[in-house]
Amino acid sequence: MTPPILPGAVLGVLGSGQLGRMFAIAARRMGYRVHTLSPAAGSPTGQVADREVVADYDDLDAVAEFARGVDVVTFEFENVPVAAAETAARFVPVRPRGEVLHVAQHRLREKTTLWRLGVPTAAFEAVDSPQALDAALGRIGTPAVLKTAGFGYDGKGQIVLRQPAEAGQAWRAIGAGEAVLEAFVDFESEVSVVAARGADGAFVHYGVTENRHRDHILDVSLPGVSLPGDGNERAVALAREILEALDVVGVLCVEFFVTRDGELLVNELAPRPHNSGHFSVDASVTCQFEQQVRAACALPLGDTGLLRPAAMVNLLGDLWDAGEPDWAAALRDPRVKLHLYGKAEARPGRKMGHLTAFGDDAEDAAQRALAARTRLSASARGG
Ligand code: AMP
Repeated sequence: MTPPILPGAVLGVLGSGQLGRMFAIAARRMGYRVHTLSPAAGSPTGQVADREVVADYDDLDAVAEFARGVDVVTFEFENVPVAAAETAARFVPVRPRGEVLHVAQHRLREKTTLWRLGVPTAAFEAVDSPQALDAALGRIGTPAVLKTAGFGYDGKGQIVLRQPAEAGQAWRAIGAGEAVLEAFVDFESEVSVVAARGADGAFVHYGVTENRHRDHILDVSLPGVSLPGDGNERAVALAREILEALDVVGVLCVEFFVTRDGELLVNELAPRPHNSGHFSVDASVTCQFEQQVRAACALPLGDTGLLRPAAMVNLLGDLWDAGEPDWAAALRDPRVKLHLYGKAEARPGRKMGHLTAFGDDAEDAAQRALAARTRLSASARGG
C-alpha cells in the first residue's frame, strides 16, 4: 500500500493559474501547506499558497530545489516540460506521473495513444510538410481541422480547412513543423467526463457534463446530463479505460464529441482538474480539486455525488470592457456563487472567474447563471 501523505505536509504544484488556486484552497482547507512554482509572480495560485517560487519550468535546478521542499508534486498545467516532472520525481512522488503529461501535452502522441487503446477519435493523420498535408487532405477530405501537434488549448493553434485549396495558407498560419490533420466532426454536442483515480487504483467520476463553447472557449457547463441510450455508460467506461491504461493517479478530464448518430469520439485529454468540473466546487460532495489532493496524497477518494442541479458559466476578460463588472447585481440571485481568480489584468478571452448557479434542473441553473452574467455588465452599459 502506498503510504498516505497526511495533513501538515507540503504539496507542490507546478503551474500557478486558477486550477492551482482552487487546488491550494482545497488543500489548505484540509490542513496541508502548498508551494507553487511557475514563471509568474503574484499569480492566482501564489496569492493563496504558502510559498510562491518564481522560476521557469526548464530551470531544472530551481525545480529540484522546489521538489526538495515539498512532500509530493502535482501540476495544474499540462504544458510543463516533462524534464521538470522527471527532475521532481528524483526527490518526491509526482502524481500523476510525468508520462501522463508527456502524452497529453502533444496532440499527436495523445491521438496515437488513444488509437492504440482502440478509443474512438475523429479520423486523423500526422502531417509534417505541405506535401504531407495535401496527401492527408486527399484521404481525410474537407472540412478538416489542422492543429499544431504541441502546446494547444482553447482552440489555439488550430484552423478549419473548408477546401483543399486552403492548405498552403493554413500550413503557414499555424506555423508548425509538426501537426495533426483531423476530420471535422459535425457534432450534436460536446461533453466531458471528469474522473479521478487513487493511488490504490480506485476510480470515481463526475458523470457526463455538457459543454457549450463560444469562440472555441468553454462558455457553459451543465453537469449530470443524460445521453441517449447507453451513452453515459459508454463515456464513463472510456474514461475509466483511459485513466487505467495511462496509470493516472490524480484527476483527468476526457472531452468528447457526441456525433449526430450518438457515437462518442474523444477530442482531448486534460490530466488535471478541468474547467468543465468547476461546478463540483459548490455542487458536489467532493470537488475535483479535493479529489486531486486526495489522489496526490494517496488518501481514499471522496464521493462525487451532485448535491443539487447546477451549472457553471465562465467569466472572460471581455466582461471588463465597460469597466468593473457589477458583482452585486450578479449576486441578487441567492442561488448564484461567484468565483474570481485574482488576475490583475482582464484581457479579452482570458478566464477571470466563473459563476455557479443552482436551479430546478441543469438547464434552469444554466439560465440563472447566464442571467447573472448578463447583469454583471448591464448596469455598466446603462441597461
Ligand atoms: P481543442 O483545442 O482541440 O480542444 O478544440 C477546441 C474546440 O474546437 C473544440 O471544443 C471544438 O468545439 C472545436 N473542434 C476541435 N476539433 C474539432 C473537430 N475535429 N471537429 C469539429 N470541431 C472541432
